[in-house]
Amino acid sequence: MIRGARRGYPLAGTVDVVVIGAGHAGLAMSRCLSEGSIDHVVLERGGIANSWRHERWDSLVRLTANWQSRLPGYCYTGLEPDGYMTMLEVVEFIGRYARIIGAPVRTETTVMSVSVADDGYHVVTDHGQWRCRAVVIASGAHNIPAVPPLCAALPRSLRALTTKDYRNPGQLDDRGVLVVGASATGLQLADEIHRSGRQVTLAVGEHIRMPRVYRGLDIQWWLDAVGILDERYDEVDDIVRARRVPSPQLIGTPQRSTLDLNTLTEAGVNIVGRLVGINDGKAQFSGSLRNHCAMADLKLGRLLETIDAWAQRSGKSGEVAAPERFAATRVEDAPCLSLDLSSGRIGTVIWATGFRPDYQWLHVPALDRKGLLRHDGGIVDMPGLYVLGLNFMRRRKSSFMHGAEDDVRDLSAQLAAYLRNAVSRRAMRAAG
Ligand SMILES: Cc1cc2nc3c(=O)[nH]c(=O)nc-3n(C[C@H](O)[C@H](O)[C@H](O)COP(=O)(O)OP(=O)(O)OC[C@H]3O[C@@H](n4cnc5c(N)ncnc54)[C@H](O)[C@@H]3O)c2cc1C
Repeated sequence: MIRGARRGYPLAGTVDVVVIGAGHAGLAMSRCLSEGSIDHVVLERGGIANSWRHERWDSLVRLTANWQSRLPGYCYTGLEPDGYMTMLEVVEFIGRYARIIGAPVRTETTVMSVSVADDGYHVVTDHGQWRCRAVVIASGAHNIPAVPPLCAALPRSLRALTTKDYRNPGQLDDRGVLVVGASATGLQLADEIHRSGRQVTLAVGEHIRMPRVYRGLDIQWWLDAVGILDERYDEVDDIVRARRVPSPQLIGTPQRSTLDLNTLTEAGVNIVGRLVGINDGKAQFSGSLRNHCAMADLKLGRLLETIDAWAQRSGKSGEVAAPERFAATRVEDAPCLSLDLSSGRIGTVIWATGFRPDYQWLHVPALDRKGLLRHDGGIVDMPGLYVLGLNFMRRRKSSFMHGAEDDVRDLSAQLAAYLRNAVSRRAMRAAG
């Protein structure tokens, strides 16, 4: 039994590296570790691509294009590079990757504790305990729905769902729905539920507006070509703020249509400001809707200017449609500032207010006051500990599938160097 091992958890193995999570990020790391002949295991509490299997709603289609599905040694080779994958297709894509790279994955194995041990870490799972010199946390950035504390004031007659619980409109009763949050998820759910014939109110705070197609090309193509997705964490002025920016209002459809607040207003969705309080059964919305929309329009305008300037410089301008500008977001003269949640007309509130990672099992002094990891571009503030897949972790694209490749290559090189140096340190210690 290894030193410090807990009773009841036999030693499952000793490896150089334990990778936690078999989503695309953990598998990409596994592939790079294998390339460097580094002995490792990938521990996964469910099946491969577990989050895509169990934590997304039924109709979700990825907002990134198929050509962006690339991982170390693997990429999309299908017939629709400009299409968008359904959840089933994503699960198949990641599952095939795991098979091709022969990743040493232990599925149905939940990591319950990671703690420091001599020269490394103890990793306790529900199927035994691992001893390792380094740990890569690839357990995802979207583990726990970030529901605001004011949810406690919701009238009991209402059903509250997070976007992890929501599957399809069939789950809801026929009454109206309040969707809180207007990032990609909030907009898509508002749209789907409204189409199902229910009245929808959408509470809108800070958001990122984007057209699906610009000058005839997918906006993701432009973001990639201009270099915006590659922007590094050490190049931006305020990385703390950059990491909090919500996901862009995009949807993947065969028609490549744009979904924004104007589309929803036209369809009949009731657009209101940020939810700021619930008092006596009444939801109260901020009067800042106009400002938030104006800010999103302004940022969109700046993005399009950057794209146009790049297109001009690179000579792309001659090959694509002319620059366009989009109508400002329409805001009612007097948007509604409150909604009676106890009148019986609203049946459900859906919190589309984002997520945070879950590190309850991480027993090392590397978490800040908010329970988030202290790290420098994925290199955690503890020797031999690395993280993957967080928002803007090393690059703007870090939390997306196409962001894993560059991050994993950087971090696996760092990790290999760490292991080599650890061997030299041990040899020096042994030599006295
Ligand atoms: C609604 C939504 C839509 C998205 N759309 C896109 C998109 O269109 N394009 C795109 O590129 N990205 C998208 N993303 C972002 C991102 O690509 C996904 O969240 C992706 O799943 C992240 O991959 P990952 O490998 O970092 O984490 P995950 O896929 O979440 O993998 C983490 C794995 O770790 C496992 N795990 C967690 N805790 C433990 C534990 N204690 N023990 C063992 N295993 C554990 C989980 O079961 C899971 O399998 C979306 C995210 C969300 C939430």
